[in-house]
Amino acid sequence: MTATDSRNSTEFDRDVVVVGGGPAGCSAGIFTARYGLDTVIFDRGNSSLRRCAYLENYLGFPAGIDIDTLYDLMGVHAEEMGCDLVSDMVESVTRTDDESGFVVETQDGRAVTARRVVAASRYDGEYMRPLGGDEMFETHSHGGEEHEHFDPEYADSDSRTPIEGLYVAAPAGEMNAQAIISAGYGAQVGRNLLADYRCEQGYPEEVADHWDWLRRDAELDDEWSDRDRWREWFEGRIPDDHGLGDDRLAELREADIDRSFETYLAPDEIEDRERRGLARLVETVGPDRVLDALDDERIREYLDSEEASAES
Ligand SMILES: Cc1cc2nc3c(=O)[nH]c(=O)nc-3n(C[C@H](O)[C@H](O)[C@H](O)COP(=O)(O)OP(=O)(O)OC[C@H]3O[C@@H](n4cnc5c(N)ncnc54)[C@H](O)[C@@H]3O)c2cc1C
Repeated sequence: MTATDSRNSTEFDRDVVVVGGGPAGCSAGIFTARYGLDTVIFDRGNSSLRRCAYLENYLGFPAGIDIDTLYDLMGVHAEEMGCDLVSDMVESVTRTDDESGFVVETQDGRAVTARRVVAASRYDGEYMRPLGGDEMFETHSHGGEEHEHFDPEYADSDSRTPIEGLYVAAPAGEMNAQAIISAGYGAQVGRNLLADYRCEQGYPEEVADHWDWLRRDAELDDEWSDRDRWREWFEGRIPDDHGLGDDRLAELREADIDRSFETYLAPDEIEDRERRGLARLVETVGPDRVLDALDDERIREYLDSEEASAES
């Protein structure tokens, strides 16, 4: 987080609490933490992902991935990007006395205050009941019995809710139907939260969206190497009646330009990332597991047969 657009984090223990560390929650947390918001993910309890026998349709794993390994990869990824991942179950979320944030209480006795909360617990919404009461739930009849569930339509289609600062990535109906969709929706929820955060900092809506991109510095041509070009671009997008004082406008603009310049990577920085990325991947999957796999007779047979069919 750049110094000039940081909020007063001392007001709350955390900027963001994410409830649930499945695909939706880890993905949302990665976006908020990468921006610099102090993010904790609590993860324990009923998991849809843990019910899958094996995952074959999650992009990036050519022959699928087992659930334990995916959980490990998601967790390490979230931590690597700056989230704290805590194995604990959220039991209740209530408003702080002044209604500016939330108090999150857990099974293990933690009480954490946060400015924003992201629900990402597909099978559990009960902990939100103190915030919105029965209005947050709907009743279904199934097998002659009545069941109550968190109403996926309580949140708007953009994940925002009538309770300022509360976002729902899951339960969110169709958005959680497949693991990869849930991960994508979690990312969108993270971006929505960041846009609101930036508005709160003073950024006009027109420049509130955050693009978490990394680019090659070769793309930074003469025109865009010049800070004045970025200033012109920023000011060209905001309305005349932005209502900011000159100093605050300059502060926010310069912080955003700093942030943009940081996204350009030199070749050696890209190489460092490639090495680190591979190392963390092997480390998480387990180097012994990778090496053992190469010694495993059935895996060798499989690799040999693949090689033979590629040659024929
Ligand atoms: C039997 C079965 C098979 C499936 N097979 C596939 C498949 O092959 N491919 C596919 O794409 N999708 C499949 N799915 C769907 C897939 O599991 C979901 O789309 C996906 O897991 C949703 O991700 P999520 O993060 O929204 O929720 P979840 O995966 O449920 O993750 C929620 C997380 O929140 C945690 N949690 C819950 N309550 C709390 C709380 N109160 N406090 C803290 N943490 C909490 C849970 O422990 C969990 O880790 C399957 C689902 C089932 C049930």
